[in-house]
Amino acid sequence: MSRNPREESVAVIGSGVSGLITAYTLIRDGFENVEILTKDAHVGGIWARDRIYPGLFLNNVHGEYRLSPLKMPPPVSGGDRLSGYDMNKYFETFASQFLEGKIQFNLDVHNIRRPASGQGWLLDISDLKSGIQETREYARLVMCTGGSSNPRIPKELSPEAAAAAGFKGLVMHTVDFARKIDVLLAHAAPAESGPDTPSVVVIGGGKSAQDVCAYLANEGKKVTLVCHNLDPFTAGPKPLPEFLRKSRLLSLFSPHIHLRTASERFLHTTWVGKKIVDFMWNGLADSSFKAMNIPADSPLRNTVSPFWHVRVNDEGVPRPNGFHPLAVAGKIEVLSPAHVAGFSEDGGSVSLEDGRAVRASVLVLATGYTSSWSPLFEENTIEELGLKPHLAQPNPEHHWDYTTLSDAPPLHPDAKKWSFSLYRGLVPAKNIHRRDFAVNGACISLNNGYTVEVASHWISSYFLSDPMRIAQTPEEAFKETERDAAWLKRRYPEVPTALNASLTGYLAFWTWPQHVDDLLEDMGLPVMRGGGNGLTWPFHVIDLKEIEHLKEERDAKRAEISS
Ligand SMILES: Cc1cc2nc3c(=O)[nH]c(=O)nc-3n(C[C@H](O)[C@H](O)[C@H](O)COP(=O)(O)OP(=O)(O)OC[C@H]3O[C@@H](n4cnc5c(N)ncnc54)[C@H](O)[C@@H]3O)c2cc1C
Repeated sequence: MSRNPREESVAVIGSGVSGLITAYTLIRDGFENVEILTKDAHVGGIWARDRIYPGLFLNNVHGEYRLSPLKMPPPVSGGDRLSGYDMNKYFETFASQFLEGKIQFNLDVHNIRRPASGQGWLLDISDLKSGIQETREYARLVMCTGGSSNPRIPKELSPEAAAAAGFKGLVMHTVDFARKIDVLLAHAAPAESGPDTPSVVVIGGGKSAQDVCAYLANEGKKVTLVCHNLDPFTAGPKPLPEFLRKSRLLSLFSPHIHLRTASERFLHTTWVGKKIVDFMWNGLADSSFKAMNIPADSPLRNTVSPFWHVRVNDEGVPRPNGFHPLAVAGKIEVLSPAHVAGFSEDGGSVSLEDGRAVRASVLVLATGYTSSWSPLFEENTIEELGLKPHLAQPNPEHHWDYTTLSDAPPLHPDAKKWSFSLYRGLVPAKNIHRRDFAVNGACISLNNGYTVEVASHWISSYFLSDPMRIAQTPEEAFKETERDAAWLKRRYPEVPTALNASLTGYLAFWTWPQHVDDLLEDMGLPVMRGGGNGLTWPFHVIDLKEIEHLKEERDAKRAEISS
C-alpha cells in the first residue's frame, strides 16, 4: 500500500443514506478514488424510487433524518410527516448535487475476500443488467448495505410452506410491496364484503406492517393485522413545541453506558430519578393513546415498552387516514397478541396458535430482515474480519448500578447466547489495526442522518490515521466491544443484536446524542453541540448546523497536532 491513503481506492457499497454521506465525506476529505457500488437501479436504499409506495411515511420528526449539506424541505403533502416520496426526492437531490458520476448502479457485490497479497480487497461483481461478471480490487471498503434488504421469512409461512399446504392465495414480504402492489390489490377483497370473505392478512406489528395496513384500508380493502405486539408511538392533539420534540430532552430520560452530566446521573442512579423517568415514559405512552382515542381494552394498546425497545413511531398530530385512527374506526382488524402458526388445510386460511383460523386471500409478511452481510462475504473472510457473532462470555466487571434499569425484562435467549464485536458500531474489533474496512449504518438511531454523518467523519479520520482516541490493537478493541455488548444486553435485553448485526451492530436509539458525542470525543472535537448550560442543554433544538463544519474542525485539529 502506498503511504497516502487519499490516493488509494475506496469502494462504498450501498447508495442509501449511509453510503451517500460516507462517500461525500471521503471525497471532501480528499480521497481521490471513491466509488459507490449498488445493486439498486436508483439511489436512496430503502427510500429508492422503486421501493417506496403510497402510505409509506418516515417515523421520525421532520428534520431528524437529514444531512447537513442539504436542507430537508417540508413534506410535500403538508402535515408534519415526511412521506417515502419526500425522502426519495431528498436523496436523489443529494446524489445529483454532490455525487454526480460517483455511483455505479445495478452491481451486485459478492464474494468479498482478501487477495493473495493479503492487502486490500477483491470483490466479485455481477452486473444485473448486462449479466457481465468481473472481479475488482480496492484498497478500502465501507459497507453501507443496511439491514433492511434481505427479508426474514419464517419457514412455516414461506411460499414453499404455502404450496405444500395447498394455500391458494398470494404470499409476499413487505420488501416486495412496492413492486407487487397491483397484484396485491387485485387479490384483495373490498372492505364491505361479508365476514367470510378472506382478508389481506398482514403479519407483524412494526412500522412496515402498520403502513401496509393503512395503505390497504385507504384503498377500501379488507385487511387484518396479526401480531405478537405493536410498535409504540408518540402522538398529541397538537404539535408539541420544538424545544420538547426536536431537542435532546428524551435522550436525558434514557441511560447511556456512561453518564456524562449531573442531570443524567441524578435521573438514572437515584430512587427519585427513577420515579421521574418512569412517570415520563408512562405519561408519554398514556397521552399518545389518548391523542389517538384508543379505548382501554383495544389490542392497539398491546405495544412494546418504548423504554426497553428500539422501535417507536412519531405520529405527531393523528391523521384520519393513519394506521391507528383507521384501526379504531374498525377499518383495520387487529388481532394481538396472536401468533400465526402456519397455513390451514382448507387452502384459504392461516391458523393461529390459539386455534383460531383467519380467512386469507393474501399473506403479507412484515416479519423483518436478516443481515445483508452474510451473502456478501466468503465464509473465511467473515471469520478473519470478525464479522461473525461469537459466544457471549459474561464478565462480572461489566455491571451498571442504574436504578432505571432495575426492573428490566428478561434477556432474550439469543442475546444471552451471542455477542458481536463492532467497535463503536463502525469497525470489526479484529480488523481495527488494518484501517481498511468499516461499516456505516449498522447503528439504530432516532436521528439517523446526524448519526451516519458523524460516523462518516469518524471513518474518514480512521482511514487517514488521524490522531484519535481509539483502541490500537484487536485485543484492546475486543475488550471494549465486550463491554459495549454487555451494556446493550443490559439496556435493551429483548433485542438480540448479534443476529442481524448489519442493522443492530450498535443500538444508540434514544441516546443517539450521547453516542454521537462519544464519536466526536474520539475525534478530539467538542461535544454537546446544542449549547446551553447544565440545565438548559436538553431543551436546545437540534440543528444540523452543529455538524456542518466537521471537516474543517478535523482539518484544524490535524494541523494543530502536526505543528
Ligand atoms: C419500510 C422501512 C421503513 C423504514 N423507516 C424508517 C424510519 O422512518 N426512520 C428510520 O430511522 N429508519 C427507518 N427504516 C430503517 C432504514 O433501513 C434506515 O433508516 C436507513 O434507510 C438505512 O440506510 P442505509 O443506507 O444504512 O441502508 P439502506 O437504505 O438499506 O441501503 C442499503 C444499500 O445497500 C445496497 N446493497 C445491499 N446489498 C448489496 C450488494 N450485495 N451489492 C450491492 N449493493 C448492495 C442496496 O442496494 C442499497 O443501496 C426503515 C426501514 C424500512 C425497511
